[in-house]
Amino acid sequence: MKPSKPVILTGVRANNNIHIGNYFGAILPIINMAKRRSDEYDINLFIPDLHSFTTPIDHSKLYDSILNNARVYTAAGLPLDNPSIHLYRQSRIPAHSELAWILDCFTGFGEMSRMTQFKDKGSKGDASVGLFNYPVLMAADILLYGATYVPVGDDQTQHLEFTRDIAERMNRKFGDLFIVPKPVIQQHQFFGKDQGLRIKDLVNPAKKMSKSDESGKGIIFLSDDPKSAHKKIMSATTDSIGKVQYDKENQPGISNLLEILTLVRQDAGREVTLEQTANEYFGMDRYGDFKRIVADEVAEFLENFQNRLAAVDEQAIEEKLASSEKDMNAVANETLYRVQKAVGLRK
Ligand code: ATP
Ligand code: MG
Repeated sequence: MKPSKPVILTGVRANNNIHIGNYFGAILPIINMAKRRSDEYDINLFIPDLHSFTTPIDHSKLYDSILNNARVYTAAGLPLDNPSIHLYRQSRIPAHSELAWILDCFTGFGEMSRMTQFKDKGSKGDASVGLFNYPVLMAADILLYGATYVPVGDDQTQHLEFTRDIAERMNRKFGDLFIVPKPVIQQHQFFGKDQGLRIKDLVNPAKKMSKSDESGKGIIFLSDDPKSAHKKIMSATTDSIGKVQYDKENQPGISNLLEILTLVRQDAGREVTLEQTANEYFGMDRYGDFKRIVADEVAEFLENFQNRLAAVDEQAIEEKLASSEKDMNAVANETLYRVQKAVGLRK
């Protein structure tokens, strides 16, 4: 089974504590992109579960967190019945590991040592070989399906460049084996500036909301009890200016709340823009009242989301995974077979 359309591929990370920044900044944009582009492209959404333990984790929770990813995407609106959208677990397609090994043998030790992410994360304590060469596995994830477009954040651009390098190197040595993904600049042009949205921490609105923040007081997790989320918003840091307006520079806390309010309203199906929300509350001088409006609507959003999550059709998810994994094994094995022949493993 060969995909008839060009492929857009993106990893959907196994992760149990997703916050509203991840949801509005990463998950929804992927789902919207998948819906919008699936006429013209095959959309590969894979759960990179082999990447989940390049650093130590609690393995007793991995299995459930993998499925939870699929549940969260489904609750967020991923259409499971769209045949151009493929949802699969990396570990269920053995070709990923096999191709990664072959590519490993054409990758320089020095080349991997220069990856800045390894230098950052690997310098702390005793890094695993898995962490060291995960960019090679990532290259295999992309090249197996001949993906043209892969949305990457800044932390992944070097790995995408490596993917292009190794693909071109193999193509030079063995003839046309791989489709080379587009360069980073063209990726950005294709996906638009998706790095725009940054929900800020509620306690310290100078920095972005981040799950690795110690206290958790400034973060709204999708799993938060709506009541405690309400409290977090009510105690969000504001300013001494005393007038609601969208001014990121001087009123980052209030501006952040205006953004959050707009996003939860959009999620509820209302067609509002940030500008409209900002106009609606412009000049309001009682921050407590404004916060209560935001807190109420965020609590409502969480309640809705949690209801949707509880109601996802587990069987439909299992069936989607099974059918995508069957199809993607066929695609991936075709590429792997070609590579195995090229390197002399098969006739
Ligand atoms: P960590 O603190 O471990 O880096 P994180 O909260 O930054 O965690 P990631 O797992 O690094 O989350 O990011 C997952 C996705 O969510 C990325 O695409 C990232 O750009 C996006 N994202 C993370 N934080 C925010 C935020 N505050 N606002 C919007 N998008 C965000
Ligand atoms: Mg991060």
